[in-house]
Amino acid sequence: MIFVVGIGPGGRKYMTSEALEAIEKSDVVVGYKTYLRFIYDLIEGKEVYESGMKEEVNRCKNAIDLSKKGKIVAVVSGGDSGIYGMAGLIHELNSREETRQNIVVVQGVTSSVSAAADLGAPIMHDMCQISLSDLMTPWEIIEKRLKLAAEADFVICLYNPKSRGRTDHLKKAFEIMSEFKDGSTIVGIVKNAGRGEELEKYIMTFDEMDFEVCDMSTMVIIGNKETYIYDDKMVTPRGYSI
Ligand code: SAH
Repeated sequence: MIFVVGIGPGGRKYMTSEALEAIEKSDVVVGYKTYLRFIYDLIEGKEVYESGMKEEVNRCKNAIDLSKKGKIVAVVSGGDSGIYGMAGLIHELNSREETRQNIVVVQGVTSSVSAAADLGAPIMHDMCQISLSDLMTPWEIIEKRLKLAAEADFVICLYNPKSRGRTDHLKKAFEIMSEFKDGSTIVGIVKNAGRGEELEKYIMTFDEMDFEVCDMSTMVIIGNKETYIYDDKMVTPRGYSI
């Protein structure tokens, strides 16, 4: 069987007890290096397959082969395993198998939710999440989604705002959204959410957006027309009369 485990944004205290239990029960742990570093102490003595980026398909095929051999396998994703994680790919591959493996998706705290808690309460109202990675999604589709989400005044959470190969996507995304997002719209940036001392957070306006602080471990949350700042908190009202 295969547990597809979301381990949360990083810190142990943000892991669910279901995730801890699944890892404990597993004989083999398969995952991306960046995320396995958070759980090294939990996987000591287990068979471990670490891999880098762009090796997702092989990593998941390997997990299915190991499961076929009777092993209990944990495939580890950061955040939630069903949000730009491994859960979908494992199910897709399993659907093509003659003998289906038992797959259990173990939910985790996704980085938009973790970053939101660090910022205050920015996603209290309708929100959408958009990944700026065009490795598997054509950039035209990403542009269209950014435009329509901005027009509909969603709070927008941007995953994968930057990578080594893509440094200007975030700027382009802001240009596209600027048709509908006012310059005074509040933007929250959280780097290394849920990772204790590594955490960095910034709140600014859309016009003042600081593209330089963003990297691969950053969540960018763009507020809606109602979002405001008080003290150092970013808040989107739900609409209560108070
Ligand atoms: N499955 C993950 C998302 C993987 S996509 C989840 O549910 O969170 C990778 C992107 O997630 C990163 O580029 C970054 O935008 C975001 N991310 C992952 N961990 C993060 C963290 N600790 N703090 C801020 N953003 C994070």
